[in-house]
Amino acid sequence: MTLIEEVNARKTFAIISHPDAGKTTMTEKLLQLGDLIRTTGTVKGKKTGKYATSDWMEIEKQRGISVTSSVMNFPYKSHKVTILDTPGHEDFSEDTYRTLTAVDSVVMIIDATKGIEAQTIKLFKVCKMRGIPIFTFINKLDREGREPLELLEQIEEVLDIETYPMNWPVGMGKRFLGIFDRYHEQFVAYNGNEKESFYDYESLENGEVPSITEDVTYQETKDELALLDEAGDPFTLDRVLKGEQTPVFFGSALAPFGVESFFDTFVEMAPSPKPRRTTEGLKRPENTDFSGFIFKIQANMNPQHRDRVAFLRVCSGKFERGMTVKLPRTNKTIKLNQTQQFVASSRDTVEEAYPGDIIGIYDPGVYRIGDTLLEGKGAFEYDELPQFPPELFKRVTAKNVMKAKQFKKGLEQLVQEGAIQLFTQHPMESYIIGAVGDLQYQVFEHRMRNEYNVEVTLESIGERIPRWLDEEKVDTSLFDERNMLVKDREGAFLVLFKNDFALKWFEDKHPNITLIDLFEVN
Ligand code: GDP
Repeated sequence: MTLIEEVNARKTFAIISHPDAGKTTMTEKLLQLGDLIRTTGTVKGKKTGKYATSDWMEIEKQRGISVTSSVMNFPYKSHKVTILDTPGHEDFSEDTYRTLTAVDSVVMIIDATKGIEAQTIKLFKVCKMRGIPIFTFINKLDREGREPLELLEQIEEVLDIETYPMNWPVGMGKRFLGIFDRYHEQFVAYNGNEKESFYDYESLENGEVPSITEDVTYQETKDELALLDEAGDPFTLDRVLKGEQTPVFFGSALAPFGVESFFDTFVEMAPSPKPRRTTEGLKRPENTDFSGFIFKIQANMNPQHRDRVAFLRVCSGKFERGMTVKLPRTNKTIKLNQTQQFVASSRDTVEEAYPGDIIGIYDPGVYRIGDTLLEGKGAFEYDELPQFPPELFKRVTAKNVMKAKQFKKGLEQLVQEGAIQLFTQHPMESYIIGAVGDLQYQVFEHRMRNEYNVEVTLESIGERIPRWLDEEKVDTSLFDERNMLVKDREGAFLVLFKNDFALKWFEDKHPNITLIDLFEVN
């Protein structure tokens, strides 16, 4: 295959959802479609008691979870599909957000019984900000849920995106008959755990399937569908690809029902790798020089070796094992010998990779999150990864004051790697770290102990609202523990406000001080 054909075959996406909406179930069903697993229940260790091979880290073993998002890669029809997992629950971390910088589209799963939930909103905002196309799967139609129209309205209102129902459900829960597949113009009948059956509209019109057409719910839904055809927004692939419209599919991941037709439509419509912004303008995937960027570093996978794996998204050209690449940040060249590909839950050595692929490269400690690697004469870098607002803040100290040197070294390296965000309280110079989820603190403690031999004490200072301010406006007498004055990595001043109320109060009291929210997602 030519490079362009390889690029066009790739579909790299993430599944986002609130915990329990059905992400794992959906992932398993997609892997089954790709014929990668014959029995379900192999995606996450916690559900089966088996540990996936990615659970190398000790914390992962103790908790039976994958600390950081994993990558699954399989062929499906003429496509090469890569799914990046975005961990939820207490596993939520900056990695979860960063994963979204490495995909070309996103599947959003919503539980029909619950509607949109908190974590979906957060992740959705990142996609919206980056203009990533979003495909919606409304799950658990086999249970009594909210009305389809109500769910669509909620998506439009809360997430501010136009919806287009690709199919329309007839009933729900016990009375769930099936879906009108508007895109393929057919009716798909729900048969419980049995395989679904398909009827063209004509055979239903002719009354060939009375068990369906004589049902009251069917007749009511037909009227609803006619209304939808007339009054709803038209489907526009162009708007979908810009992230302005989301195609919505109803179904059940568990049954499974509607999963295959959803996925067939998804792989057809979802974009292949597109040009990406760099410091030297747009870089096209079909550009023959290899390039890519690192969006995640997973450390200490093997406690004996303390090695790390950097996750690289290939953006242009062809990657070949053993090739020599440049790291523009340090201007060093590196030979990439030890590389991994992620196939479902196992890791094989990767010999070659193309734009859209995610590969793992051995990191002796030279990479940082956001680093560009490239081949050829160029020296460009891909756009910096956005900084995500930490939500939890803790004061950190070394238990043993004699270990101050290792403590500082560990702190600095973990900050550079992007594992945590560091702030220094002003003027007493104590350290405050910020994270998106609690898991980041557990990983931080673990790594400080294992890699730097330092026990740390973490003292929570709660959730905070960070706002930057001009240096000349800084008057230390205005701040205390409640509205805490700190400096960021670059030495810029910001205030960690205790809550919304404290922030508003401060703004009212000091109208001459402009407070800036520097985080791109909020
Ligand atoms: P995750 O936390 O988003 O990965 O959610 P899971 O895939 O683990 O699903 C959470 C629970 O919902 C599990 O008990 C699943 O069996 C169940 N579930 C998932 N999909 C469906 C569905 O389509 N119908 C029903 N009734 N239950 C489902």
